[in-house]
Amino acid sequence: MAAGEAELEERPAPSETRCPECGASPTEESKRDRHLSDLGYLHQDVRLRCSGEECDNLWVAGMPIGEFDRDDLADDLRCDACDGDLPMFVHRIRRRGVDGHDIGLDLKCPNPECYHFEQVGRDLDKEGVALVGYPQITGQTEGADPYGWQEADDDE
Ligand SMILES: [Zn+2]
Ligand SMILES: [Zn+2]
Repeated sequence: MAAGEAELEERPAPSETRCPECGASPTEESKRDRHLSDLGYLHQDVRLRCSGEECDNLWVAGMPIGEFDRDDLADDLRCDACDGDLPMFVHRIRRRGVDGHDIGLDLKCPNPECYHFEQVGRDLDKEGVALVGYPQITGQTEGADPYGWQEADDDE
């Protein structure tokens, strides 16, 4: 399957990430430990190792590639009450979703002059995973293996 517009090519490691345990930078060698993935959306996983002398911590960064292309999910997260720059935050999760969906997300706008509250639904895939769909942290899903979302079911 073609990967659309986005090129599945190597990107530089993130520059501002620090060890979550001790705050030291990652080793230069570990910055090269990058893996391209098309699980759920196109992205590059980087496994970083701490350069701290007393610390052997590993942490992971997942860098999205391409533009998130599931507008129905992204639109759900946008606050229409204030039209602010920030998407609404997931505030609570409930097993029984709204409008027949598997999962309900209670969303709240982080704008202190708004704080709009809203509920949206998400469907679990066959593995029991649902993608929330923040476009800021999610890459292109076209050409990726479904994970947290399902192909339109023409055959069901
Ligand atoms: Zn560390
Ligand atoms: Zn708002």
